[in-house]
Amino acid sequence: MVDLIADYYEGLPQQPRVSPDVQPGFLCDAMPPRAPEQPESFEAVMADVRDKLMPGVVHWQSPSFFAYFPSNYSFPAALADMWSSVLGMVGFSWAAGPVSTELEMAMMDWMAELCGLPEAFKCNGGAGPGGGVIQGTTSEAVVVALLAARARCLAGCPAADKLKLVAYSSDQAHSCFKKACMIVGIDHVRLLPASPQHDWALQPEALKAAIAADVAAGLIPCFAMASIGTTSSCAVDPVAQLAAAAAGSGAWFHVDAAYAGSAALLPEQRHHFVGLEAVDSYSFNPHKWLLTNFDCCCMWVADSGPLKEALSLTPVFLRAAGNSLDYKDWQIPLGRRFRSLKLYFLLRMYGAEKIRAYLRHHIALAAAFAQAVAADPRFELAAPQRFGLVCFRLRDVPREVNAALLAELNAGGRLFLIHTELSGAYTLRLAVGAATTQLEHVQAAWAAVAAAADVVLQAHGAAAGRKEAAAAGAGAGGAGGAAGA
Ligand SMILES: *Cc1c(COP(=O)(O)O)cnc(C)c1O
Repeated sequence: MVDLIADYYEGLPQQPRVSPDVQPGFLCDAMPPRAPEQPESFEAVMADVRDKLMPGVVHWQSPSFFAYFPSNYSFPAALADMWSSVLGMVGFSWAAGPVSTELEMAMMDWMAELCGLPEAFKCNGGAGPGGGVIQGTTSEAVVVALLAARARCLAGCPAADKLKLVAYSSDQAHSCFKKACMIVGIDHVRLLPASPQHDWALQPEALKAAIAADVAAGLIPCFAMASIGTTSSCAVDPVAQLAAAAAGSGAWFHVDAAYAGSAALLPEQRHHFVGLEAVDSYSFNPHKWLLTNFDCCCMWVADSGPLKEALSLTPVFLRAAGNSLDYKDWQIPLGRRFRSLKLYFLLRMYGAEKIRAYLRHHIALAAAFAQAVAADPRFELAAPQRFGLVCFRLRDVPREVNAALLAELNAGGRLFLIHTELSGAYTLRLAVGAATTQLEHVQAAWAAVAAAADVVLQAHGAAAGRKEAAAAGAGAGGAGGAAGA
């Protein structure tokens, strides 16, 4: 299997397609209707993996994968996962997995240090009020933060009406924010408008005004979430000012840096992360850009009390102090994987310097692509290039033309990217971040974009010409119509 893995990885640049050419049902129709009664050989299974399953794979590790955000694989993290699989240890409590509990605390402190996070977030061996935990995904981290927020709100005011709690974020926040509100049962959800004038960053005045209006109406601010690196455009909310705007309202303040959080390893990117000293919780996904194969979401809290209040079935006063930190009280499920082993292998086998160089490489590649876009008068950058993301589109054309551009690009399968909407405008999105991506792949992507633009602009020009001719014809025949408009 290890040999097959190595062969697959080395062959990625030669894959003819990044996204597969299959239709829904492609596998369902090819599957035997029931599981075999007798064992089959590994070779037989792998033959079907090759022939039936692989045609339905999107090659996320391909150097020409530019869709969504990356989800990196690395050899050290994959080796760690193999070891964790054979141990099969489910460390929900310290006793059920002393090493998984203590390695997780240590890795969360290592990571906090590498990212320059506030001291209050560190576990310090389980002694402090703060600490870190590895969740599966950001979506879970946001639900957990919201549960802690609600617990703290209701503890401060036991008579408070749960139906009056309010949660705030920007209209650029990831959909997991709204979903967390649905799950936790927060009825009042404010998605405050973030405007293009501020590059889609939420403004503190907007948050302050919304909180004041809700308080005046008798509602209770419970939770506010800022984003560092939104999914659409990598907008960075001004965390320090937003936290100041929410201060005194009683709302728990969470920061979601799911993708961009990896950039905090780079001192020159730290200005995006100013203000974390003032927040209650913070999370990012090493499983996106930090070479840790899915899943791994690092979440820190300055005070774990409300979180345990919300998620523990043992009363706080009965809990032992010290090292008996039980991570089941920091998450939704009981069972948990030994995820910290991936970070341990990665950080030791690569070292921080190599990881920083790797992040800088991606940012430089994105900058090279952004430069090519800016130098072509047919195109415009739809948002400033940040981290590994470039948002761009053909300028002065109807949205169908940009949609046709994306369809043309993805149809060949040689590269894969997706689009977003920014202030209602159809916008293409190129996210650099596969560990295999080099300058040549980004240059090839730009060449493909420029060639596809030729095709769709020509088609659009011809179509517009036909429309114009038809309008001119109708105008000439009609009663004084404005011809050729
Ligand atoms: C990807 C992303 C998420 C969701 O991450 P999951 O770990 O899949 O839940 C949340 N927020 C932002 C900004 C993201 O980019």
